[in-house]
Amino acid sequence: MSNPIEGLKPEGVWKYFAEISKIPRGSKNEKQIAAYVMRKAKEFGLEAKQDKFMTVLVRKPASPGYENRPMICLQGHLDMVCEKNKDKVHDFEKDPIELVRNGNIMMANGTTLGADNGIAVATNLAIMEDKSLAHGPLEFLFTIDEETGLTGASNLKAGFVQSKTLMNLDSEEEGELYVGCSGGRNTTGTWKVAFENAPGKTTCTVIRVKGLKGGHSGLEIDKGRGNSIKILNRVLLALSDLGGRLANIEGGNKSNAIPREAEALVSPQPN
Ligand SMILES: [Zn+2]
Repeated sequence: MSNPIEGLKPEGVWKYFAEISKIPRGSKNEKQIAAYVMRKAKEFGLEAKQDKFMTVLVRKPASPGYENRPMICLQGHLDMVCEKNKDKVHDFEKDPIELVRNGNIMMANGTTLGADNGIAVATNLAIMEDKSLAHGPLEFLFTIDEETGLTGASNLKAGFVQSKTLMNLDSEEEGELYVGCSGGRNTTGTWKVAFENAPGKTTCTVIRVKGLKGGHSGLEIDKGRGNSIKILNRVLLALSDLGGRLANIEGGNKSNAIPREAEALVSPQPN
C-alpha cells in the first residue's frame, strides 16, 4: 500500500498526524498520547509539564527578534471519538488507526479518523519542532477528555497557562476563525415591590412595543436589532420621571430569542 501522507503539505503536520494515528487515544485513554507529547517536547528541548489530570502544557520561546510579542497559547484535545463499522475488526485500546487517502480526502479504514482533534495535536507538534518559524513566545495546551466530559479543560488550574490569548484549534471549517461563541445563562430575579392603589376615575394606558424583527440571541445579536423589552423599559423609565406608575409588564417568550414584543400597563400617579 502506498504511503497515504506522501506529498501532503505542510509535511510536519502530516508526519505527526500519521504518528499519532498509531497511538490509541479514545477519551479517558489518553495516557499514551500524553506521554508521547511529553517525550516529543523533551526531544525538542522544550519546557513541558503535566497536571494530575494528564493535561500537557509545552512552552516554546520566541524566535529571535520576536521576544517582546505577547505569548499565545495553541490548544487542542488529545482524545478522539472511537467508532467503527460493524464488520471492521478493530481494538481502539491498542490498534493503530489505518489512514487511507482517497483523492484529496484523508479517511480511516473502517473507523473514525480522529482528525478531531488529531489535526490540532499534529499541528502543535509540528510547530513545536519547526525551528524555521518566526513567532512570539508560544504555549501549547493539550487537554484530555474533551469528547466525554471536558474534564481536562474544566479542571485546568489558574496559572497553568500563562498566555492571555488562547487559540482553540478544534473548529469545523478550514480557514475560518471564530472570535466568540454564543452561550446561554438563565437569571431569575426576584424583588419586592411596594403596591399602591391606583387613583380613582383615571384611565390606564397600555404601552405596546411590537413588530420588531426578533432573531436568535446568539446568531443575530450583532445585527443591531431592537429588543422590545429594552425599548419598553426606556419608555417606562422616562414616564416614571413624569410620575407614571407601572401596573403590569410582560415581554419576550424565549430565553434564546431577541424579544419582538413587550407591553406594559401604566397608570398616572396617585393623588
Ligand atoms: Zn473536538
